[in-house]
Amino acid sequence: MNKKIAILAGDGIGPEVMAQAIRVLDAVAAKFEHKFDYVEALVGGAAYDHYQNHLPQETIDVCKGADAVLFGSVGGPVELQHEAKWANCEAKSILALRKAFNFNINLRKMTLYPEIAALSPLRPDLLKDGLDIVVFRELVGDVYFGEHTLDEKNGERHAFDSGEYTESQIRSIAEYAFNVARTRKNRIISVDKANVMAMSKLWRQVVGEVAKQNPDVACSDMLVDNCAMQLVKNPAQFDIILTSNLFGDIISDEVSVLSGSVGMMPSASFSPSGLALYEPAGGSAPDIANKNIANPIAQILSASLMLAYSFNMLTEANAIDEAIKATIVAGFRTGDIATKLGNETVVGTKEFTDQVIARL
Ligand code: NAD
Repeated sequence: MNKKIAILAGDGIGPEVMAQAIRVLDAVAAKFEHKFDYVEALVGGAAYDHYQNHLPQETIDVCKGADAVLFGSVGGPVELQHEAKWANCEAKSILALRKAFNFNINLRKMTLYPEIAALSPLRPDLLKDGLDIVVFRELVGDVYFGEHTLDEKNGERHAFDSGEYTESQIRSIAEYAFNVARTRKNRIISVDKANVMAMSKLWRQVVGEVAKQNPDVACSDMLVDNCAMQLVKNPAQFDIILTSNLFGDIISDEVSVLSGSVGMMPSASFSPSGLALYEPAGGSAPDIANKNIANPIAQILSASLMLAYSFNMLTEANAIDEAIKATIVAGFRTGDIATKLGNETVVGTKEFTDQVIARL
């Protein structure tokens, strides 16, 4: 298969972990006889240096012409956020990109390998088989786009927020999640607050209708307060969590800390046009940039998600996931995931990737 991939490496550790993901993709292309063409474009501070614009039209055009977008990360050091190059850099690049392509679905995937369970804030006995949880978060509805007022009413301070959902917004993400469930364990837990909120009542109705049309996938409902509790009590019960924008914001952050390092969590954003963007869930980590110590796993797993969900290359994606797992099992670690227990070899960004490629 021939595929064109837009490469938006960005700032900080973005370029160095992206270089490693491309090496892994090249190894996959050679092994499975595919051809990946990479078209690089500037974004974030790197784009600002060249265009005085964090998301130039040239970059949008490169994305439009690609089969998928592989994104690194953007942003500068927190102490330099007042400089024009870094001020609101994330909002002006990644959020602007999400808006330009109407990405309405976000997916985050958390993998916890039993060998590094000591990094998790959870008790080891809850993690003996590892964890593999996908969170689907709706991105264009809910309270983020409603009215927000902070005023005075009847002589006291008063606050008002509104939010809305349409049935088609909910159906779009639900259908996507059910399709992905078929490539995993055929199980979905849909999370809402249907005992209180009208948006959640509609959410539950529409997800229920999509579930009826997909009887091969087991789908159950869970209230968000219970979900927050169950994630720390019995996380292994979850495979796919499907939820609305606000609950997804909170629950996906809760899920992300369970793995112990932000350097391991890939994410994807899907648009109704079919274009998708894949990126690590963490930031540009300027504190460790250009030192060959960043963990490349989130970026490499982002490439794996791209193969699975944009190119339907499930075997190839699985080969990457298994190679990373085997590298961890063999004891190789970047500094952020060293447990200092047992036989571990701490290696650099490039050397960790060498080990992954050797196991592909
Ligand atoms: P961050 O995720 O960049 O870093 C938080 C901590 O995690 C740091 O100590 C960092 O060294 C560590 N870390 C992150 N990724 C790592 C990796 N792959 N390997 C090893 N350690 C890793 O968050 P921050 O420090 O709050 O933000 C830094 C910059 O990133 C800011 O400018 C922020 O706006 C930006 N940011 C960008 C995105 C994005 O591009 N989507 C997301 C979040 C933050």
